[in-house]
Amino acid sequence: MDDLSLALQVALGNQKNWKDGCVAWVESRDSQCGKKRSEGFLCSRHISVAKRRAEARAAKLEAYQARKKIFHDKHISEWRERLDGVEAELERRTGVLTTDRAAYGGVGTPAIARHNQRQFSDSNVERVGELIREKESLESKIAGVHGA
Ligand SMILES: [Zn+2]
Repeated sequence: MDDLSLALQVALGNQKNWKDGCVAWVESRDSQCGKKRSEGFLCSRHISVAKRRAEARAAKLEAYQARKKIFHDKHISEWRERLDGVEAELERRTGVLTTDRAAYGGVGTPAIARHNQRQFSDSNVERVGELIREKESLESKIAGVHGA
């Protein structure tokens, strides 16, 4: 970890306000430590405090990611299954115009006309919107974009 990142573990964020000496913020005194810098921006005591904090943060992050991975592994097959269902329903509700027309008796048949009408009814549009949102949400979950 570089000097600045280490200093930011124990100092206040606004570097413009840092004075000479160790920049660690001492809560009990409500002021900057100010002792002689031993390395980078910190005195020797605050270097070890900063290192401990950095390690604790890294450990916490690691634990969080491990939990997230377990959650992800546990749910991924059900998310994939649900995604298949969502995609199938989306295709049923929207796909007939662009996919297998023959299955519906060809273009211009009453079946197609009825389907087209159904496709643009308010409730279908609403449902398709829901399905698209659910599909996006499932895809990002499967990709591991969202946290557990
Ligand atoms: Zn210090």
